[in-house]
Amino acid sequence: MKKTYQIAVFPGDGIGVEVIREALKILDVLAATANVAFEVRHGLIGGAAYDASGTPFPAESLDLALGSDAVLLGAVGGPKWEGLDYSVRPERALLGLREKLGLFANMRPVRVFDELVAASPLKPEVVRGIDIMIIRELTGDLYFGKPRGIRMENGQRIGVNTLVYTEEEIRRIALVAFETAMKRKKRVVSVDKANVLESTQLWRDVVTEVSRDFPEVDLRHMYVDNCAMQLIGNPAQFDIIVTTNLFGDILSDEAAMITGSIGMLPSASLGVTGGMYEPIHGSAPDIAGQDIANPLATILSVAMMLRYSCRMEKGARCIEAAVQEVLRAGFRTKDIHQEGTMLVGTAEMGDEVVKQFKNIKIAGNS
Ligand code: NAD
Repeated sequence: MKKTYQIAVFPGDGIGVEVIREALKILDVLAATANVAFEVRHGLIGGAAYDASGTPFPAESLDLALGSDAVLLGAVGGPKWEGLDYSVRPERALLGLREKLGLFANMRPVRVFDELVAASPLKPEVVRGIDIMIIRELTGDLYFGKPRGIRMENGQRIGVNTLVYTEEEIRRIALVAFETAMKRKKRVVSVDKANVLESTQLWRDVVTEVSRDFPEVDLRHMYVDNCAMQLIGNPAQFDIIVTTNLFGDILSDEAAMITGSIGMLPSASLGVTGGMYEPIHGSAPDIAGQDIANPLATILSVAMMLRYSCRMEKGARCIEAAVQEVLRAGFRTKDIHQEGTMLVGTAEMGDEVVKQFKNIKIAGNS
């Protein structure tokens, strides 16, 4: 009897729709070749949901997510919805999903494929072999803290957001970082701004406390401004970076460029149960509908889904190997294209990964 996983799929807006289409091709092949079944159910989220129902995060979409083993998401947002009130902006749906599913740990692997070293704006000797896991706290910080909003005071508008972290929130993300470190190179850099922000002094204190249970792990603290610099100057020094919601958001986009394109970076958002998987990029309205978006970040997000939500490490590795083979064979979407490589569109890139994936024999799922 095949194990069946319920997968909620939210393509969202813009290129989200295009890249999810390619990712689902892989799931289909996997279901045909491995001893598993995926019950894929689609839902609306973001601008598409707002257009259909007046809210970016309808109750049915939440129910769908809550009733699934994993959520696969494309991206949300776009200029069409930029004038809306914040409460109904497409991006609110992401915050809603993270909050309601309790997804507090965002894992963002930043890996430079050898084949893409030349696509990075940094020197080859700086980026070769880079393999960093950025672990971003996802349900606290300025994104959720209250009070928030824009109000009138003494005849002028003031904008307020609140940076708040409880020690429990810090402890649980620190634990994820140290446990992940034990499976990697046993090195953690915790990033904060403890020199000026009290809430991140607490961050530093609690991370240090948690580190005492992991004596084998080397812990360093780094201010976020320095980290932004170090990521460009000497990214090889990092193995795991654990940081707050806002700093993680910014640093991971910066780190994305080390790899050559934001279109290469997958992510997993994990909670106590369940998980959500999505590329780190947005809906890219500037290239939407042109069949030029890079689907590899989303395809690699499926690999993360297999690893974390389906416990199918072998399947995950097969997808990663297929992506590597496609790059080795010289196929490139526009964002990573260089002279001497073959320019392909979104759909063709997806097909090439499927071809390679089929070639790589999956000897059962583990
Ligand atoms: P973006 O990530 O959508 O795009 C930034 C740049 O990277 C653009 O030039 C785009 O063309 C390029 N790019 C992104 N993904 C690509 C891919 N797969 N292949 C090739 N090129 C790619 O960020 P943005 O332009 O700041 O935001 C656009 C919209 O997306 C906004 O509405 C924003 O709020 C939203 N957004 C959503 C998410 C999400 O859904 N998780 C994340 C970030 C931004």
